[in-house]
Amino acid sequence: MTQERTRSTSTTGAGLFTTGRLLLILSVCSRGGVLLLLCAFALWTEYLNLKVGYNSARLVELSSGKPMRIFYEYSDAFFTMLGDPVQVMQSNGGMTWSIRVMGIQFTDPVAGLSVLVKNRHMPSGFALGLIVPLSLALIFGRVFCNFICPASLFFFSISRLRRLLRHVFYFPEYAVNRGLAWGVLVGGLVAAMIFGHGIWSLILPYFAVGQTIFHGLAFGTLYATVGSIAVFGLVDLCCGNHFTCRFICPTGRLLGFLGRKPLVSVRRNAAACLTRCTSCADICPLDVNPKLDQYRDCSLCGECLTICPGNCLSIGLKKGGQRVDV
Ligand code: SF4
Ligand code: SF4
Ligand code: SF4
Repeated sequence: MTQERTRSTSTTGAGLFTTGRLLLILSVCSRGGVLLLLCAFALWTEYLNLKVGYNSARLVELSSGKPMRIFYEYSDAFFTMLGDPVQVMQSNGGMTWSIRVMGIQFTDPVAGLSVLVKNRHMPSGFALGLIVPLSLALIFGRVFCNFICPASLFFFSISRLRRLLRHVFYFPEYAVNRGLAWGVLVGGLVAAMIFGHGIWSLILPYFAVGQTIFHGLAFGTLYATVGSIAVFGLVDLCCGNHFTCRFICPTGRLLGFLGRKPLVSVRRNAAACLTRCTSCADICPLDVNPKLDQYRDCSLCGECLTICPGNCLSIGLKKGGQRVDV
């Protein structure tokens, strides 16, 4: 068990819109945008069904009621502006597992591994979809976790809830071996070979969130993944701050490994760093320690920049073996 991590009362005093706060605002907006996009994709799947099935607002109203007609008409008008609605819909859509936006495919690296292990080959479109996520990890580290993952807002909220309730209740802070997430990855791959890729919707938190949104909005039903999300939430609440992301999620572990030497990362001005301070390590949700210049698993959330009393942390670009400010 580790000590409960506490937030320092110190402030940087460096103005309202510091880099740390901007990163925080940007990450909340971008993850909110991803959630909205998933909702839109789920609703537009229903629109596509109506378009192919009826292709008429009047028939849609007769079969599904007036609200659905309004939704159909607005969607139709919107997609017609972009081209042929059916073609536009077919070039956009999918789940967090593998999603297409404006015809560009994004593939989850775990999905890529799962397809490769189970099918012994990977379709070229699926493989090309790995380019963006892998490049992001190599350049910026584990930024997927902080700016894209639709589950991370959920864990972010649980973390804030823990922080709020900590004045009243005791919350333990457990730590386990980080190899656990690799075990989950291997176990998941074996399970996928036996039961199919759908097993990941119970194992990967963001896939569970995506499936829950999809089934809720497209079919009006609660899917089994709700239980999975509840378990992850309870684990974070009862076992430790961001416990799932630190120790269980295989995608986080994989991206942290791939991005262990990112081109852009947090940098520390050692001369300004305060000897007895550990605020940056204490606040980091992913157990990174900027004081020791360790940045593996850093998701560029900016929390350490916000808390640093010496104002000596910034985001830096590694260039020719040295880091320079950006
Ligand atoms: S560790 Fe997994 S669940 Fe957590 S933010 Fe990263 S991808 Fe999402
Ligand atoms: S070191 Fe930790 S707190 Fe600082 S930006 Fe990275 S993940 Fe966030
Ligand atoms: S970088 Fe140094 S001064 Fe800033 S929070 Fe970390 S230990 Fe404290």
